[in-house]
Amino acid sequence: MATDPSDIKEYARPRAEAASLHWPTYEKQIAQESNWRHWSSPGVVKSSPTGSMGLGQLNSKFYPESDWRDPYVNIAKSIEIMAGNLRRFGSYRKALAAYNWGGGNVGGYTKPDGTVVPPWDGRRETISDQGRHYLDVILGSAWEEPDTAPAPTPTIVYQDYRDPGPAGTFAAQPKGIILHGSRSGKDGNPKAAEYLGTARYEVNNPDGLGWHATVGENVVAVHLTPREWGWNARAASDKYLAVELAQATVDEPITDAQVDALADWITTRVLPVWPRLPMYFPTHAEVERSGETGQRDGKTDVFPDQARADELRGRLMARLTTTTGSDDVTKAEADALRAENAKLREQVNGLITAVAVLGDDVADAHQAQVTKARAIREQFIGPRV
Ligand SMILES: [Zn+2]
Repeated sequence: MATDPSDIKEYARPRAEAASLHWPTYEKQIAQESNWRHWSSPGVVKSSPTGSMGLGQLNSKFYPESDWRDPYVNIAKSIEIMAGNLRRFGSYRKALAAYNWGGGNVGGYTKPDGTVVPPWDGRRETISDQGRHYLDVILGSAWEEPDTAPAPTPTIVYQDYRDPGPAGTFAAQPKGIILHGSRSGKDGNPKAAEYLGTARYEVNNPDGLGWHATVGENVVAVHLTPREWGWNARAASDKYLAVELAQATVDEPITDAQVDALADWITTRVLPVWPRLPMYFPTHAEVERSGETGQRDGKTDVFPDQARADELRGRLMARLTTTTGSDDVTKAEADALRAENAKLREQVNGLITAVAVLGDDVADAHQAQVTKARAIREQFIGPRV
């Protein structure tokens, strides 16, 4: 299990931002809770004296599902709680206080004996010492509310719909990405429902099929890592990555929000693993027509006609070049290196010439000194014999 804080943060950040949490503040909060160190890291105590556990230091008494052994589950629960606090109390001061000091103390409650504990008024004087220290560390002593205005709007959300049984791992770099349409055939099925149904189908895996991602609108369900492959196009399956675009029927368009999600998945998940992956996006029907599947199934997704497939690819490529320009970057980098090289070589040549000139000057100066010394010696001592 991963224990690297940067790995956990990579997992936590998009979730925190999707939950509208201010990431720098949440990052500081978990640093204060556990220093972002999982319990299995050396020297880390699993549980505090009060029973708080894991990265988010959640009390297992109140959150039995916040499995402290699994840092991902624990941090996801922590984000959910913090986002809930923020919605309920409307400020980071109170949301953080609720997380640390307790929601009852912040929101007020009635004790079993009838005593009413009023809501916290938000002042330094009326919180526990520990709570005050907690807010000081995370928000600074002025308890300034984080400036959430420039926080990025949630863009593409990734959801974990792990395929329970990948067919294998690629022996060589894949040739491209096959575009499938999910095509449940349920006319009028909302895009979100088509997405969810397709994602769940992949996980339940009733027919052993597998593909890398199901693409909805600004949302991607991840089934396989880019190194793995699953059966989705018969013999071509172990040569291509593959996605299912949520598309109930053949007439349903693939929206820009789906193209955005697909481009983001390619950029952030696939290219880091396969940086030289050809930007080749055949439809299932095209792969089949090429004979690579090894069998005619008469599949027609994602679009049966070339024009619509080309139109989709055009939009995808436009989105990819604005987000990555990966091929250009590689070429630009090579050009920059060549230019840098030439400049350095020029500088080195210049230095060699300069040193040579300097060498000549030094030799000349030395010779002049020798001549002068000889003259002086001759003048006072007489010529050397
Ligand atoms: Zn297909």
